[in-house]
Amino acid sequence: MKGAIFLEIFKKVSDGAKSIGEGARTIGKKSSDLVETAKLKMEISKLEKEMENNISALGNLVFMQYKGEEGLEDEVDRLLQSTRELEAEMAELHEQVVKLNPKPPLCPSCQTELPYTAKFCYVCGTKIITGTPE
Ligand SMILES: [Zn+2]
Repeated sequence: MKGAIFLEIFKKVSDGAKSIGEGARTIGKKSSDLVETAKLKMEISKLEKEMENNISALGNLVFMQYKGEEGLEDEVDRLLQSTRELEAEMAELHEQVVKLNPKPPLCPSCQTELPYTAKFCYVCGTKIITGTPE
């Protein structure tokens, strides 16, 4: 008898937990894009800083070469190579950010940014033709 009541309560609690869990999962999916975007942007700014460092180091090396220092070519090459790699990496990260955040549609007539679900431009009233026919 007591056991049955406990089971009933337990069942309710676990049902509640289940639905909360499901809700959290749905929210989690949406916010994970935001988290991912933030992470990518942080990564990009980190690379930007590295690139700045590279370029200022390159500037120093060139200046040292100008002053007559020798044997710096390898270091210059290494920095140029690494700067190129950073550039490619940044471009790739940027692409991922764009993929996670597709651009909102633009009004073909007045170029206003519109919500994804817009059927008409709220500024000039132009009908928005979306990719899907109908
Ligand atoms: Zn418009």
